[in-house]
Amino acid sequence: MIAERIDGKAFAQSLRERVGRLAAEFACKAGRKAGLAVVLVGEDQASQVYVRSKGKATLEANMASFEHRLPADVSGAELLALVERLNVDPAVDGILVQLPLPGYLDEQAVISAISPDKDVDGFHVINAGRLSVGQTGFVPCTPLGCMMMLTDRLGDLSGLEAVVIGRSNIVGKPMAQLLLDANATVTIAHSRTKNLPDVVRRADIVVAAVGRPEMVRKDWIKPGATVIDVGINRVAAAEEGKTRLVGDVAFDEVSEVAGAITPVPGGVGPMTIAVLLRNTLVAAYRNAGIALAGDDL
Ligand code: NAP
Repeated sequence: MIAERIDGKAFAQSLRERVGRLAAEFACKAGRKAGLAVVLVGEDQASQVYVRSKGKATLEANMASFEHRLPADVSGAELLALVERLNVDPAVDGILVQLPLPGYLDEQAVISAISPDKDVDGFHVINAGRLSVGQTGFVPCTPLGCMMMLTDRLGDLSGLEAVVIGRSNIVGKPMAQLLLDANATVTIAHSRTKNLPDVVRRADIVVAAVGRPEMVRKDWIKPGATVIDVGINRVAAAEEGKTRLVGDVAFDEVSEVAGAITPVPGGVGPMTIAVLLRNTLVAAYRNAGIALAGDDL
């Protein structure tokens, strides 16, 4: 068997187009565009690339983008004051502070300062709590994107065995919660899990969010399982001096047994920005008190 390749790029593109259409409708109804503010502290190269592509995608989706670039030595008080201004700015529906912040800044304090109703990353403890008790809030973009791809492929997840490898607050835990809410039987594995291959072999759904290149091997996978690879790892390429990206799953060999699998790159990654745009649009509709027609987001 050769696994179906789940095309995250195409899936993300179609979500972005849907968001773009609904964002145009929002602008007509509300008399303003939905707005996403992105805050970048310092000169980190990767963060600059992420912020630029988020800004571009926001504009392409018919939304307003507000970029705030602060110097690497900005004080915690200045950063919190900016977040406070954005919290009360009616043109801003979503606030994203690009992580990681320089080490001397308290990330948790900054995330806690964001209004939970503008926390489109879903990192605020209030939104984590809402997810955990089944209230409406914002769900972190990466696991929500994984969930969309899973339900698109599998439909009803009731009773399926799901194993999530990784228990971070931004991927593993919310992923497990979403699967549980969809009535899957969920196991969360982590670095202290014993007999990890045996645990993973039970799974109809495997979500790998570890950060270890190609850790998940072919003989860990139940034939026909759906495998979602969240990992992004840069490794040396065959050509000297070059690097390439690989996931947490050994893609080629796992493809021989899985029913479906997301590639890296081109799987989960593109979904993360698309879901960020989706969350921002949902925030805009909620903040403006306008019902979102249909439930197709
Ligand atoms: P993280 O905070 O470092 O968490 C990694 C998790 O993996 C931890 O729970 C850790 O267990 C577990 N782990 C580490 N070694 C393990 C092992 N040998 N066996 C089993 N579990 C092990 O990472 P993260 O932020 O969740 O990200 C995970 C990966 O996803 C990274 O590669 C990251 O780059 C990628 N990522 C991708 C996107 C995207 O848009 N595609 C978004 C976010 C993250 P302990 O808790 O016991 O330490």
